[in-house]
Amino acid sequence: MALQQAVETAVPDRRRPERGFDGAALRADFPILAEPARNGQRLVYLDSAASSQKPRSVIDALSDAYEHHYANVHRGIYQLSEDATERFEEARRRVARFIGAPSEREVVFVRNATEAINLVAFAWGRANVRAGDLIVSTEMEHHANLVPWQQLAAETGATLEYVHLTDDGRLDRDDLARLLARGPKLLAFAHVSNALGTINPVVEITRQAHAAGALVLLDAAQSVPHMPVSVGELGVDFAVLSGHKMLGPSGIGALWGRRELLDAMPPFMTGGNMIRRVTLEGTEWNEVPWKFEAGTPAIAEAMALTAAIDYLEALGMDRVRAHERSLFEAGWAALSSLEGVQLLGPADPDLHAGVISFVIDGIHPHDVATVLDSEGIAVRAGHHCAQPVMLRYDIPATTRASFYVYNAPDDVDRLTDAIRAAQRLFAG
Ligand code: PMP
Repeated sequence: MALQQAVETAVPDRRRPERGFDGAALRADFPILAEPARNGQRLVYLDSAASSQKPRSVIDALSDAYEHHYANVHRGIYQLSEDATERFEEARRRVARFIGAPSEREVVFVRNATEAINLVAFAWGRANVRAGDLIVSTEMEHHANLVPWQQLAAETGATLEYVHLTDDGRLDRDDLARLLARGPKLLAFAHVSNALGTINPVVEITRQAHAAGALVLLDAAQSVPHMPVSVGELGVDFAVLSGHKMLGPSGIGALWGRRELLDAMPPFMTGGNMIRRVTLEGTEWNEVPWKFEAGTPAIAEAMALTAAIDYLEALGMDRVRAHERSLFEAGWAALSSLEGVQLLGPADPDLHAGVISFVIDGIHPHDVATVLDSEGIAVRAGHHCAQPVMLRYDIPATTRASFYVYNAPDDVDRLTDAIRAAQRLFAG
């Protein structure tokens, strides 16, 4: 497998995670990357922040689940169902370990990060937030970490305020301190911004928020796939992630929450699986995490998520981060040397994940993406579900190149050449 080769030959010294690995060697594990792009060239996939590609091992795990291990879970008194249940619960243990959760009972399977945030906004929010309370989010959030809080505020009469952004795409810490001084119930913010690439200082901010009496919900959709994340070490109260952004299948994600918070929360959805006992008069809820998992869950997807975690753990998350950091540095240097290209977010590679959002003078981001597509390069153009970020910088949209394990410096070269080609095309 290319993974093994990349880890063993490109990085012979496993004690030096700062060296990353050879992303080009990993491509052989990703069948879709062998499909030629529309211009016949090798596809350069730079849209992993939207969704990652899947290695053969994950694709195989999905079909293996259906071929050999599939039955409904938590119900059947027969061997196949017990096997499926064990594999489903093993996936939960693996997610817990991967994100440094103290217990797998604190990991709730949901469809995606969006559903996880909605779960907290509904179940925790409706039970704990009252008229006049304050909730704080930020101007940098994906709509998934913004709209549910707007809805909660509208329904409860609570106030929602936002931490504003600095010109270089960081959270304004004075603004944060000012809002925390007002004693909010909750601070909901992203570990890594999908629109800007900014990495937020979670430990510091969480300490401040707790000192002010607020709980912290961390949107870890863009960090868990790309760097070591330990919810225990970060000290947050809730964290959310999506499987499809971390080499896993779509349709499965997770909410992690502190046990005492989850225990105290009412259910989000009701029905089968989430109950202990039902009579015509009433219902007793199941224990966490199953209390929050109404209906048949994403069974095969959970098994394939285990394969995705296997893949990432074999690479080592320190090395994944080192790899993307070096691609960011190469990409930032190359793009900022081009005339007429404006880059968003902090220039400091310690504060910036493998996401480069940019605008080009005189060319709409959609046109940039169309030209790049004709050159065999897949990037995202638009508001990236973060319209307030676009309003903050007074731009309609950006073009975004995002890196992952299968990218390498040759992708940065192709991107840079194609941007030059777009500039020539629109100049002439
Ligand atoms: N938060 C962030 C920071 C994201 O980047 C995304 C996906 N773009 C989400 C939340 C939502 O993820 P999903 O669409 O998988 O629910």
